[in-house]
Amino acid sequence: MAQRQQPMVILSEDNERTQGEDAQDSNIRAGKAVANSVRTTLGPKGMDKMLVGSSGDVTITNDGATILNEMDIEHPAAQMLVEVAETQEIEVGDGTTTASVLAGELLAEAEELLDQDLHPTVIVEGYHEAAKLAHEAVDDQTLAVDLDDDTLEAVARSSMTGKGTGDVTVDTLAEPVVSAVQQVATDAGVDREDIHIHTHPGASTSATELIEGVVIDETPLDDAAPSQLAEATTAILDTDLEFDTGEADAEYNITDVDQLNEAIAAEEEELEGYADAIVDAGVELLFVTGDIDDRVASHLAAEEIVAFEDIGSSDADAIAAATGARQLGTLEDIEDADLGTTAALSVETYGEDEFTFVEGADAAHVSLFVRGSTDHVVDELERALNDALDVVIAALDAGGVVGGAGAAEVAIADHVRGHAASVEGRKQLAIEAFATAVDELPRTLAENTGMDPIDALVDLRARHDAQGRAGLVSTGRSGTVGDPVEEDILDPAAVKHEAVDSATEAATMILRIDDVISSDG
Ligand code: ADP
Ligand code: MG
Repeated sequence: MAQRQQPMVILSEDNERTQGEDAQDSNIRAGKAVANSVRTTLGPKGMDKMLVGSSGDVTITNDGATILNEMDIEHPAAQMLVEVAETQEIEVGDGTTTASVLAGELLAEAEELLDQDLHPTVIVEGYHEAAKLAHEAVDDQTLAVDLDDDTLEAVARSSMTGKGTGDVTVDTLAEPVVSAVQQVATDAGVDREDIHIHTHPGASTSATELIEGVVIDETPLDDAAPSQLAEATTAILDTDLEFDTGEADAEYNITDVDQLNEAIAAEEEELEGYADAIVDAGVELLFVTGDIDDRVASHLAAEEIVAFEDIGSSDADAIAAATGARQLGTLEDIEDADLGTTAALSVETYGEDEFTFVEGADAAHVSLFVRGSTDHVVDELERALNDALDVVIAALDAGGVVGGAGAAEVAIADHVRGHAASVEGRKQLAIEAFATAVDELPRTLAENTGMDPIDALVDLRARHDAQGRAGLVSTGRSGTVGDPVEEDILDPAAVKHEAVDSATEAATMILRIDDVISSDG
């Protein structure tokens, strides 16, 4: 008779362990809970969430990624859903609620399949196969239209509807968003870094404007400097303009007055040399990242050179891009090519704050100067504008647009369900479950608009069958089943592709786990 083996203990007693169905159960529940927490914010009629931090700070937002980020989520599986939103945000900048709701729904459907004794591996395979079909459906829904400004403004508007302070103001922001993107677009695409958002509360949202350059928090060093400049030759120095104590080590051995005077004269001379080099180079406007010695400053002022000190490095980068100036480490051998051109400079006062607007001749860098009545409003507007910039860039750079308002989702569910029938075995159930999970998106849009979700789904499917495209268009207060493209509701195709991928990834990853071991002994 074989010896009974002693169980081998490999975990210390401090470890907590959940296995098998319990582990799966707990993970699925946590994932669903996260998805449910953002569900009511989906779509233009979605509600906002008020997030209160431990120190009492308040964020009011409708943005899925922000909500999930600010929530103190500890459960490891729930944390994976937060990552879905983060990935979505990083990759395409919008669709975070869509992706998290889908991930949660994929888990909810999987739970039922597990109850019917489907093996997790079969579900995972089915979901991956369904995701491929989903991509086909999105490709099929991608419109063959010119990505002109009107189309791009529609995309920007669709992403902002329901955000910020109301639909009226959102309309006024689509145009500056698209102009900003078009200004910095090159053949190689759009670098998001070239568009800055600068917020300042205290005015109506409609006062938001596009600056073809940079907005900085600094004002000229010399109070008497003009507050407006027309075209000005611009230099950027990434150093201090102070007496260089480095070489002489500043330790003069001063024994008499003559020596002291000599030392002072030498210092004066060096400082004057700085100012002369700047004047000789033909600089009219100077930005310095470090400090400017008072004596240099007064020489510069005497020569009517407008100078700024303490410019932050990202502002310096932006000014360089906007004006075409190079950032110099030294004043020696300045060449014309090192200098840029500021088209206009103006110092503006808003209440107690002063800003300088630096408009560049190159306009390779632009800024949205965002206004809104309060801090909360400008903060939410900034998030909305970030999404809008990202969707416009995603549409332009990465694959065009699809009809919004749930139309892409209806098409995905239809296509996936249509193929499920031809799949052998139990995997078919998983593919069907994927379609049911996708249905939850238009269903949630309907719910958030106050429509009956079941009726809405039936109508959507009928119209999709008949016309190939159907969405839950909400205008004013109500929603109707219609063609989103006719209503200018457009989403980037990339947002839908990414939502399918990130949700499928997270859900299948969670489903593969059957053992949770925590070790924080
Ligand atoms: P997400 O975080 O997923 O982007 P949103 O709350 O921004 O969530 O909602 C996005 C959805 O709202 C998209 O499917 C978009 O097409 C849809 N949408 C935008 N404008 C409208 C509208 N006027 N009517 C119906 N749906 C709209
Ligand atoms: Mg959105």
